[in-house]
Amino acid sequence: MVQCEMCGAETASPKTIKVEGAELDVCDDCADFGTEVKTESSSSTSTKYSTSSSSSSGGSGGSAGGSSKTRRRDMFDEMEEVASDYDDRIRNARESAGLSQEELAKEISEKASLVRKLERGAMLPSDSVQKKLEKRLSITLTESSSTDDDWESESGGSGLTLGDMVKRKD
Ligand SMILES: [Zn+2]
Repeated sequence: MVQCEMCGAETASPKTIKVEGAELDVCDDCADFGTEVKTESSSSTSTKYSTSSSSSSGGSGGSAGGSSKTRRRDMFDEMEEVASDYDDRIRNARESAGLSQEELAKEISEKASLVRKLERGAMLPSDSVQKKLEKRLSITLTESSSTDDDWESESGGSGLTLGDMVKRKD
């Protein structure tokens, strides 16, 4: 047993510390008061250098993929595009409404010959005629984007055509 030179307590394994230049053999409790002097070469506590080189952080980010789809169609451009099957739409809507061509023409203050031409696809409806037909028949004559897969996926596939969506807002 060795007596601690600081507190006088007996200790089985004294530590040699340096306190203000003087080396003292002290107990464990007193070892904190000074700088421990490594007398033995068995102090292998700090020999292991943590070489955890986690430098595998790839820095060249930012190359966001999926930019191949640059097909960004403008909604409003598309809205002004009369559907290619506008003639069928008019005829079907008119028939389901139980109107003759003459009656429909009267409803929208146009000539029956105009309606006939429209339903034959012989001529495109003017903007005003188109709007009147759409309103009277509750249809849309603008090109739906049903053939545009991009738009379908982006809109969540609600099943509504662009024209329908616009219609609902009215
Ligand atoms: Zn002590």
